[in-house]
Amino acid sequence: HAREHGSTSLRRFDAEIAEQLERRKQLAMRVRQAVTRQEFVAFFQPIVSRDYRIVGAEALLRWQAPDAPGPAEFIPLLEEQGLIREVGRQMLHDVIHTAARWRHEQEAFQNISVNVSPIQLREEAFVNHVIDALKTSGLPASCLILEITESLYISAEKAVLNRLARLRQLGVRLALDDFGTGYSALSYLQWMPLDILKIDKSFVLKLAEEHAERDITIVRAIIQIAQACGLDVTAEGIESAEVARIMCELGAHCLQGYHFSRPLGEEAMTALLHSSAMPPPSHQPLID
Ligand code: C2E
Ligand code: MG
Ligand code: MG
Ligand code: MG
Repeated sequence: HAREHGSTSLRRFDAEIAEQLERRKQLAMRVRQAVTRQEFVAFFQPIVSRDYRIVGAEALLRWQAPDAPGPAEFIPLLEEQGLIREVGRQMLHDVIHTAARWRHEQEAFQNISVNVSPIQLREEAFVNHVIDALKTSGLPASCLILEITESLYISAEKAVLNRLARLRQLGVRLALDDFGTGYSALSYLQWMPLDILKIDKSFVLKLAEEHAERDITIVRAIIQIAQACGLDVTAEGIESAEVARIMCELGAHCLQGYHFSRPLGEEAMTALLHSSAMPPPSHQPLID
């Protein structure tokens, strides 16, 4: 009996795996089609200063098709399918040109942040792609921030390190994304040339709730580490005025989150920039 039962559940398990594999195969096919159909577009989420002016934006990739998955699912897929270099390069080029335009239209707007996959960093031509986009757009290198998330796939390889150092020599700034969640956050601070630390939203989201003492302690410690290393701090995941106030008090330099704006399409972001309609600070603005 036990054996029969065992083989039945094994068969069910096989069927589930087969189903998952089939779904992945379908998705892999769809993602390749999506690249040729140019269904990947950049959205932009405002990043504000301590006095709540829009000083920049993070470019976030969206797959525009019915029932398309979000970036957490399709970015790994693009990486597996060997498509992230092409999509990432196009994205980098487009958003740098868009940012150059916004910078001329709005004085306060300075920085465009772009997420970079470790796979892109391993590409020899990556630095030249960045230089090309900066040159053709006229955007100063200091207005570009490359966001790098710690992952198993990026280590202190000499080639990657050299590339990052070259980018920084050009004036491009480097941000360590999702700080605090990964495998080796602190060791990244040891070897990676960096300018900005982005505190992961998991530490930020609940800062205003009751009994948030521990989260506040963690964020305060992260900001102390950043200051000791000479890094600026950006807080992501700010969903309320109260959390924005707390993050300012703790010393964050830049703020980002749904409280200010969700990621927007290019047109909506342009309109927002022209209206300068950020929620007013609920407290005395803290100006550096
Ligand atoms: P990330 O770089 O840490 O981006 C921040 C994520 O937090 C975005 O999710 C954003 O929509 C979300 N977010 C912003 N404010 C709030 C908030 O107040 N509350 C909450 N709950 N969430 C907020 P999104 O757009 O789904 O992107 C997920 C991740 O996918 C990104 O995390 C990034 O690692 C990756 N990604 C997105 N675009 C690209 C890209 O062009 N290239 C690469 N390599 N990765 C990308
Ligand atoms: Mg990011
Ligand atoms: Mg992040
Ligand atoms: Mg994150």
